[in-house]
Amino acid sequence: MAEKYDYLIVGAGLYGATFAHLAHRRGKRCLVIDKRPHTGGNIYCEEIAGINVHKYGAHIFHTSDKEVWDFVNSIVPFNRYTNSPVAVAPDGKLYNLPFNMNTFYQMWGVKTPAEAQAKLDEQRREAVEKMKSEGITEPRNLEEQALMLIGTDIYEQLIKGYTEKQWGRKCTDLPADIIRRLPVRLTFDNNYFNDAYQGIPIGGYNRLIDGLLEDIEVRLNCDYFDHRAELDPIARTIVYTGPIDRYFDYKFGSLEYRTVSFETEILPTPNYQGNAVVNYTSADVPYTRIIEHKHFEALLQPEVYANPQTVISREYSTEWRPGMEPFYPVTDSKNTTRYTQYRDLREAIPANPDGSPRVIFGGRLAEYKYYDMAPIVAQVLKMFK
Ligand code: UDP
Repeated sequence: MAEKYDYLIVGAGLYGATFAHLAHRRGKRCLVIDKRPHTGGNIYCEEIAGINVHKYGAHIFHTSDKEVWDFVNSIVPFNRYTNSPVAVAPDGKLYNLPFNMNTFYQMWGVKTPAEAQAKLDEQRREAVEKMKSEGITEPRNLEEQALMLIGTDIYEQLIKGYTEKQWGRKCTDLPADIIRRLPVRLTFDNNYFNDAYQGIPIGGYNRLIDGLLEDIEVRLNCDYFDHRAELDPIARTIVYTGPIDRYFDYKFGSLEYRTVSFETEILPTPNYQGNAVVNYTSADVPYTRIIEHKHFEALLQPEVYANPQTVISREYSTEWRPGMEPFYPVTDSKNTTRYTQYRDLREAIPANPDGSPRVIFGGRLAEYKYYDMAPIVAQVLKMFK
């Protein structure tokens, strides 16, 4: 074989690093490149004031897939951090998330599941009747979905402002499925995720990435598109994890993304907000949430509270413009249609003469899909089976 590598992996994020790890374990020759000065993609952490700061936003690993959980824990042990965000609402009060008995008690003073259920039914009635009278059977947008799921008060206090800030679009213009990932529970349980396993790598996410990429050749500050002519011939297969529209030179126009930016500050207090994640659900507060990073690690390392300082990040959500890091795909109908055109181009790329794929597209940007971390790992594990 003439090529120096079996795989050129474009992007050292979770998809690329997991792929490289599994390929390397099977004796394949891998080169991983990334245009950023560090590996890890958006799970990269930067140490500030002795604290692992989630530089591209809070990442909490959660899955019900034991194989995925065992795999990541074989690279680095995880703690049992449980995500339970608190929301500061427009009415000035604090509410527990996701929507559960604590939230309902705080919102309406209801104390039992039966009382909460009655209140929820009353809250939903108006929306459900309005939709019925208009002959609508399925919610057509996020607002209708939220009103049917949880009713007016919670929609107004905890959903509308946050969602419109996060997506920069009206709830009536957003797809209903965004909100379906939020559980509604009639128990006093603030755990945001329904999964069997959840946690943060002990020592931070960089340990996970470093473990995955151990003994693998990595080139940083290397933009694939600046070196494509030299890079393409050196590997049999390209594993591309960047934006799919960029790969095809924006032939059908660019896809839209949301970007988040962070205002990170060191504060002279050991504990600023008492929780890792506090959402600000009012439209009047410009940021969507404040992350206080030390709480992710505190569970098995209580000494983090002996650190007299803390690091917080205010998270702002904006529309993506060229030159920014894309974060969330915007899965409305316009973008979905455009993505389909790119997907057809991708599928038309001929395989290598030996039948192996010439290019594999994977991950959030290449598949234009809102992925959590665990499904990415699951997908790569499955591919190697
Ligand atoms: N959401 C909300 N209020 C909140 C938190 C979440 O309305 O306080 C809704 C919102 O529509 C958001 C979706 O739930 O787009 C998913 O939010 P999550 O914070 O889980 O997304 P992440 O950015 O963490 O992936």
